[in-house]
Amino acid sequence: MSEVKKKKRRVDIPRNKMLEQNPNLRNKNFKEVNLGYTEDIAKAEAERCLQCARPLCVDGCPVNIDIPGFIKLIKEGNYRASVERIKDFNILPAVCGRVCPQEVQCEGKCVLGKKFEPVAIGHLERYVADWERENKIFSCPECKAQNNIKAAIIGLGPAGITCAAELAKEGYDITIFEAFHEGGGVLVYGIPEFRLPKEIVATEINTLEMLNVNIRYNMVIGKIITIEDLFNKGYKSIFIGIGAGTPIFLRVPGANLKGVISANEYLTRINLMKGYDFPNYKTPINLGKFVTVIGGGNVAMDAARSALRLGAEKVTIVYRRALEQMPARKEEIHHAQEEGIDFKLLTNPLQFIGDISGNVIEMEVIKMELGELDASGRARPIPIENSEFRIRTDLIINAIGNNSNPLLTSTYPKLELNKWGNIITDDNGKTNIDGIYAGGDIVTGSATVISAMGAGRRAAKAMNEYLIQFIE
Ligand SMILES: Cc1cc2nc3c(=O)[nH]c(=O)nc-3n(C[C@H](O)[C@H](O)[C@H](O)COP(=O)(O)OP(=O)(O)OC[C@H]3O[C@@H](n4cnc5c(N)ncnc54)[C@H](O)[C@@H]3O)c2cc1C
Repeated sequence: MSEVKKKKRRVDIPRNKMLEQNPNLRNKNFKEVNLGYTEDIAKAEAERCLQCARPLCVDGCPVNIDIPGFIKLIKEGNYRASVERIKDFNILPAVCGRVCPQEVQCEGKCVLGKKFEPVAIGHLERYVADWERENKIFSCPECKAQNNIKAAIIGLGPAGITCAAELAKEGYDITIFEAFHEGGGVLVYGIPEFRLPKEIVATEINTLEMLNVNIRYNMVIGKIITIEDLFNKGYKSIFIGIGAGTPIFLRVPGANLKGVISANEYLTRINLMKGYDFPNYKTPINLGKFVTVIGGGNVAMDAARSALRLGAEKVTIVYRRALEQMPARKEEIHHAQEEGIDFKLLTNPLQFIGDISGNVIEMEVIKMELGELDASGRARPIPIENSEFRIRTDLIINAIGNNSNPLLTSTYPKLELNKWGNIITDDNGKTNIDGIYAGGDIVTGSATVISAMGAGRRAAKAMNEYLIQFIE
């Protein structure tokens, strides 16, 4: 058959769907919703890749994975080589295959997507990463010989993990300082088990140990030791990847009532402190019966879907714009709807109402309509007069965004920050201080896993160029 005919046949194959847990069962458990591809389905999906000579999908990936390369190896059944190919660019393939917004990144650029459905790049990445873990193979990228030059990474989230791995491959002596007792950042304390099992994050972080990276947990930099201390201890360069972990609360009357909390606290108690397994784990958690979540991003979806799994009778998402403007991944919105979450769109909270003991009992909201585009390029929501109504609620979860945490930056005032407290860097992560680099949410504000990883990778390249002066 001619190559043209073969290509035509390939585009005719519809995109292979991933099996999922039934919505009416999964909304009562914390087990993973997506069940992955089988080998046959993975191979069939890999067949759909056109192996473009100029692959646009690679440009769409912030860490520029050789996507046609790893997919070709799946087609050939060489899964080990496939995952090794990915790991040359990204040491968190099982994570990224699960939570990356591929629809706006690699898959968003896939040529097939112009007329048909794009190749399921994320599902294929997940397939080979899972294959490696299930077969207990654990490949590790190669490292240059140790040069004994020390560099410190602050924060064991996606940005810090990637920066550490890239520098370790260059032969540097890397130590990561992490505030919590577990690594992964938002991957472990934010994203719930039903989207990203913690065991998978832990396995992928193990690659750092294989790369001889030292990890020091329970080290809050700025509190236990400072950036100055790190320089004094002989670290020649420092990368700051501490994320944006301070929640923003809606400032309306009643914001301080009992039962009004942040999604950060709620999800951290559930995920990191295993509050969903109370009393086996002794983390108390506010179990609302009528839970209302404010926001339209992934954080809002995760909080709402967790509340349902914890036994809430009714869970409502209140979002001031329309469905099309929701920043959450389409898949997460779809899953939340399937699981029975009530979406009150074009609705904005006005006040929270409490009983005489100060417990929240209702939320007053107003209907909105969409007007002109605002500075973010989205239609501005405008209140509709006399459209107020009330929602019965005993737990309100704020999921309207995060700011940077000033704990570290306040103890090192020389670092240049913007008005939101984010560290200012150039495109390569260089700050205003020689030897100090930063990347991820602490620079951009809340963004995505892969954009944080891209920033970690770019900073590692710049740090390598800076550190070369110390090699004898
Ligand atoms: C609930 C939720 C769901 C999300 N869902 C998605 C999704 O589906 N897809 C997606 O792409 N993105 C998602 N995101 C966004 C994504 O997780 C973040 O953009 C990404 O984790 C940022 O990585 P980071 O390394 O910059 O920071 P983080 O992941 O926040 O990691 C920072 C690390 O630094 C540590 N730290 C902080 N301060 C200090 C200190 N002073 N000393 C030492 N260590 C410190 C923290 O404990 C943490 O481990 C979600 C975010 C949340 C909150």
